[in-house]
Amino acid sequence: MRPEVLNALFAPITAMTGIGPKQEKLFRFLLGRDETPRIVDLLLHLPASVIDRRQRPKINEAEIGAMVTLEVIVERHRPPPPGRSRAPHLVYCADDTGTVILTYFRTYPGQIEKLLPEGEKRYVSGTTQLFDGMLQMTHPDRVVDEEGFAKLTGIDAVYPLTQGLAITALRKAIAQALTKLPDLPEWIGADVLRRCKFPSFADALQRVHVPQELTDILPDGPFWSRLAYDELLAGQLALALVRAQLRRPAGDRNAGDGALRRKIIDALPYALTPSQQQASAAIADDLTQPVRMLRLLQGDVGSGKTVVALLAAAAVAEVGKQTALMAPTEILARQHVKTIAPLAERAGLTVAILTGREKGRERKDILARLESGEIDFLVGTHALIQDDVIFKSLALAVVDEQHRFGVRERLALTNKGNAVDVLVLSATPIPRTLVLTYFGDMDISELREKPAGRQPIETRTFSASRLQEIIDGVGRAVDSGKLIYWIVPLVEESEMDGPKLTNAEERFESLQQRFGDKVGLVHGRMRGPEKDAAMARFAAGETQILVATTVVEVGVDVPAATIMVIENAERFGLAQLHQLRGRIGRGSETSTCLLLYREPLGEIAKKRLTVIKDSTDGFRIAEEDLKLRGEGDVLGTRQSGLPGYRIARSEVHAQLITQARDEALRIMKDNPKLTGERGEALRCLLYLYERDEAISLLGAG
Ligand code: ADP
Ligand code: MG
Repeated sequence: MRPEVLNALFAPITAMTGIGPKQEKLFRFLLGRDETPRIVDLLLHLPASVIDRRQRPKINEAEIGAMVTLEVIVERHRPPPPGRSRAPHLVYCADDTGTVILTYFRTYPGQIEKLLPEGEKRYVSGTTQLFDGMLQMTHPDRVVDEEGFAKLTGIDAVYPLTQGLAITALRKAIAQALTKLPDLPEWIGADVLRRCKFPSFADALQRVHVPQELTDILPDGPFWSRLAYDELLAGQLALALVRAQLRRPAGDRNAGDGALRRKIIDALPYALTPSQQQASAAIADDLTQPVRMLRLLQGDVGSGKTVVALLAAAAVAEVGKQTALMAPTEILARQHVKTIAPLAERAGLTVAILTGREKGRERKDILARLESGEIDFLVGTHALIQDDVIFKSLALAVVDEQHRFGVRERLALTNKGNAVDVLVLSATPIPRTLVLTYFGDMDISELREKPAGRQPIETRTFSASRLQEIIDGVGRAVDSGKLIYWIVPLVEESEMDGPKLTNAEERFESLQQRFGDKVGLVHGRMRGPEKDAAMARFAAGETQILVATTVVEVGVDVPAATIMVIENAERFGLAQLHQLRGRIGRGSETSTCLLLYREPLGEIAKKRLTVIKDSTDGFRIAEEDLKLRGEGDVLGTRQSGLPGYRIARSEVHAQLITQARDEALRIMKDNPKLTGERGEALRCLLYLYERDEAISLLGAG
């Protein structure tokens, strides 16, 4: 139940005066809501910038092209002559230093006369211009009388708008919404309030919407920061509540005596790196605790996450339970099986794969073996979460490339067992702040060092005008037996506007003309077996050049490939370039990555290419990516701002994210049921930022 004190804020905006059905529709659109927006939605729609109207010169001092506010007497009107409605309506105004002409186009008869009655004093605010030697102002943004002027601060908030909605209408609605703000209890702890010098929630909202100083609306200023902190605290508290629920004792211990793990380690053709050992130990420890594991295994491409996941599965199999590994693409799922199966089988583990490609009898057979418990480790795509996939005893869910899956898919998988332990693999090193915002306080293992014997990758950039040189170079590499990826940008499988395979296919054909059947092609629109065949021919060296789209982005492992050409590199994001480049440098030979860009190169694109040229450290690249593109892109969602957050921004409020996390943890320790006065206040906060699903968990358990 929503605290009563919030009712006024959750009233529909149509309850306010002056908001009819037409405006309601515009506000829905503006605020991105399917239903009628509430007053709180309006209040949390924060300004994008401000206009400074405080410059108040005399007419003869007014700077041309500047935003000014003039105090004038209205002298006379010159409406458009009859029959010439296109001509402007002119209003001559003056002060004791000169004359200014206000011009209005397309007005209703009488409208301007009413706004600016002859002989009266008005304050007009707008941008000045010089026309025919006269000072003019076209469509002043504000015209107010003495009384109206007294209410203005001289600084106006400017908001993101939607077509059809006037800024004045939005300002009016927000001003009215501000009057509905109830007296809310303080939910931030006294120590944090003091340390951060936060104003109250009400003051913060008031000042952001009605700024007194230009700096009042800065995201890193006290007012915006207070609101961002509230939002982050609500998010962190909700995550902590969910996690406390997930972490309830599972009762089960999901790791055995280590016998199977030892067999696998003995069968490995290499030694585990120290960070692989640490990660495996941490996971084994989690698995033996009688609480659920929630661990993120982060490691750059090629850092060897798969074997860590396999060891976790072996631990689970030691107690006769099952593991599922869900990968985002079919190629990746098959790749995993290829790495995993030979090692697993040496230890007597039964591995199977289930994707959209396993059908009919084959699928039935897999499902039967899964339900009987014969299969220890099932690898697949989201085919795994179909209803008829039933495990005998699923104990561990490994989710690869997590951010490609929604929360719903993750839950669907973990719901196939009882208190399933969760291990998330991420090859996109996620900056700590983002891990916190999205996954909450997960345990994290990082694979920092690359497996021994890896050679560095040399990266160079070229203008596309040098394509011929590059092709000649590729020719020499082919002659000396090297394997080359040739990447063209494309258009993912989900792209709406139809197949646009010209890039890949054109390049394939042009390279074929020169290199004949040494060239292969793989792209997302090929059928599974075709893709596999093309990959297999390349891995076996039958084709030496593989023209590919980003389907080779994740997980594909052909250690003998040592050269990668990326066409239109400027069109890829940093994370993507890094992922792609991770396909080479996997063997013992030096690798080279050639980035071709089309000119002219934009500022951001240039910076991106420089970052990728100078660094192979995925964590550094992710941080740079965050700076250059906004955090949405790091997670591949292509939006700016923190998805799911309206006010907080990770680049500005990183510090606050950690503080909010700490405060949430303290609350969970001191007052896990959110009781008493503080508890009530925190419930208000959760409702305000719509994290109230978390409150329902308080009732359970
Ligand atoms: P990731 O999934 O982290 O990108 P993989 O698990 O696919 O990386 O591993 C990449 C390659 O490195 C595989 O061929 C794997 O066999 C190999 N590998 C993994 N760990 C080691 C190690 N400790 N030493 C040498 N090679 C390793
Ligand atoms: Mg991998």
